[in-house]
Amino acid sequence: MQSYWEMQEHFDVIPMDRQAYVEEVMDHYKNPRGKGKLEHADFCAKDENPLCGDEISICAKVKAGKLQEIKFDGHGCAICIASSSMLMEKATGMKMEKALKIKREDVLSNFGEISPVRTKCALLSLKVLKLGICSFLGKKAPLE
Ligand SMILES: [Zn+2]
Repeated sequence: MQSYWEMQEHFDVIPMDRQAYVEEVMDHYKNPRGKGKLEHADFCAKDENPLCGDEISICAKVKAGKLQEIKFDGHGCAICIASSSMLMEKATGMKMEKALKIKREDVLSNFGEISPVRTKCALLSLKVLKLGICSFLGKKAPLE
């Protein structure tokens, strides 16, 4: 069965109980928070999702172990951009150690029901953020 994201793209039909998720996601997609370049960043990381063509880079300034300022840049589908925007809101001011513990489920819960292909789109920004933090801290990056 197709997820409502695919239904929306192909038929413009969304079940009523999914409407709130879709509106929230589309709002983040159209007005992404924390998108742009960050000067004098302490770390930057980048990765892509070749399945969809999403490409995201994340740069951050670190102070006292916290992500004092954080921005993403790049391009991707609505889910990828919205997910990045939501992550910037969530992770700003967060301790790096805590940000490393953000779970896949925490991100995916913003989207309600989501198909496996779209899961990679939604999780790309979290992966990039963790890559950046790990390289900054000199840790081994998580595999996923
Ligand atoms: Zn995508």
